[in-house]
Amino acid sequence: MVRAVVGANWGDEGKGKITDMLGEQSDIIIRFQGGANAGHTIVNNYGKFALHTLPSGVFYNHTTSIIGNGVALDIPVLFKEVKSIVDRGVPAPKLLVSDRAQMVMSYHKLFDAYEEERLAGKSFGSTKSGIAPFYSDKYAKIGFQVSELFDDELLKEKVVRVAEQKNVMLEHLYHKPLIKPEDLLDELHEYKEMVAPYVCDVSLFLYKAIKEGKNILLEGQLGTLKDPDHGIYPMVTSSSTLAAYGAIGAGIPPYEIKQIVTVCKAYSSAVGAGAFVSEIFGEEADELRRRGGDGGEYGATTGRPRRMGWFDCVASKYGCRMQGTTDVAFTVLDVLGYLDEIPVCIGYEIDGEVTTDFPTTHLLEKAKPVMKVLPGWKSDIRGIKNYEDLPENCRNYIEFVEEQIGYPITMVSNGPGRDEIIYRNK
Ligand code: GDP
Repeated sequence: MVRAVVGANWGDEGKGKITDMLGEQSDIIIRFQGGANAGHTIVNNYGKFALHTLPSGVFYNHTTSIIGNGVALDIPVLFKEVKSIVDRGVPAPKLLVSDRAQMVMSYHKLFDAYEEERLAGKSFGSTKSGIAPFYSDKYAKIGFQVSELFDDELLKEKVVRVAEQKNVMLEHLYHKPLIKPEDLLDELHEYKEMVAPYVCDVSLFLYKAIKEGKNILLEGQLGTLKDPDHGIYPMVTSSSTLAAYGAIGAGIPPYEIKQIVTVCKAYSSAVGAGAFVSEIFGEEADELRRRGGDGGEYGATTGRPRRMGWFDCVASKYGCRMQGTTDVAFTVLDVLGYLDEIPVCIGYEIDGEVTTDFPTTHLLEKAKPVMKVLPGWKSDIRGIKNYEDLPENCRNYIEFVEEQIGYPITMVSNGPGRDEIIYRNK
C-alpha cells in the first residue's frame, strides 16, 4: 500500500514527526519533491535531528530510504547528513537515489544568492539552497540528471554549453566571476564518485515493491500553500507540494496512493513573505512562538523566527482539499494549553463579503480574518493516550476545526515524540 504524508499549510506542520511515526509500519520511505531548503525536525530515541534531504524514515533499520526523481538532489548535503546521523549512533541507512533525479549544482546556489542580492528588499526570502535556479534549469532542459554522470562524453559537451549560457548572466546581470567548464566537470566527477553506489532505477524498484505488497510512504515537503500552482504564487516553492505529485516525483501510478495523511498544526506559522490572513503580532505572537513546536517556532534550516497566527480554517480546508486528504493529523495541540481563549479564523472578508473558500493571491492580499473565539482547556495534555481523556474544551476545539475543514482528524499529536499520538477511529 502506498500512502503519503503532506502538509496542509505553509510547511512546518510537523510532517517529520508523523512520517517518522508512520515509518515504523513502512518498508520504503521516499522523498518526492523539494530539496535541502526546508527541514524536518525529528525527535526519537537517538535524539533530536534536523533533516533537510534524507527521508524521515532513516532512523529505522527495516526501511529503505529513497530520493525520488522529483527531488532537487544536493549530493554534498545528502552525504553530510548521512554522516551526521551515523556519527550520532544511527545505523547507516539503506539509501537509494533515483537515476532520474537531477542535481543541485554549486552555481545554482550562487545564482540564488546573487538574485536575492539583486532584488534586495523585494526578495522572496529564499533559503539560498539553489532550489529555484535548479528547477528553472530542469524545465529549461539544461539540468544534470544522475544518469548523465555515467556518460563522460555527454558531460564534456554539456558543461561547455551550460557554462556559456550561465556566463552571460554572470557577466551582464550579476557582475560576478564566470564559470569554467572544467570546474563543472570536476564537480560532476566528484558527485559521481559519491552517489554511484546508491543509484537505482527507482520506478522499477517501486513497481516490484508494490506488486510484493510492500508498505510505501511518500514524504512531502512544505505544504499546499507553497505549491507553485495551487499555492500563494509567487511566494511559493518551485516543485509541487501536493500528494498527487508523489506519483510523478517517485514514479508510481497515481491510483496506487491509497491514503493521504495531511498534517495540520493546531495554530499557524509561516516563513518568508506573502499574505498570512490570521497572522498575529507583538507579545501575543512572541509567546506562541516561544512555546510553539518543540523549543520554539524558528526555521529548521535558517533559524529565522517564524511568523505566527491562529488556526486558519479557510486555508486548512483548502489545503486539505487540494491534497485529496483521507486523514488529517492534527499536531502540536499541547502547545495551546496555556491559553484562556483560543481564536480561530473561520472566514475571510474580501471587499465586504465573507467567504470560506481560499482565494487567489491578489484577493488574498485584501482578505481580513473573521474570527471566532473558543474556550481554552488550561491544562497540559501531554501524556494522554485516549481521545476521551482529553479535556472537554480540547475535544471541542478539535471537533470544531474538523467540522470547519470537512476532513476527518484521525490522529492528534500531543508532543514531539514518536509515541505522543492519539488515534481516533472515524
Ligand atoms: P515539518 O517540516 O512539517 O516536519 O515541521 P517541523 O520540523 O517544523 O516540525 C514542527 C516542530 O514541532 C518540530 O520541532 C517537532 O519536533 C515539533 N512537533 C511535532 N509535533 C508536535 C507536537 O504534537 N507537539 C509539540 N509540542 N511539538 C511537536
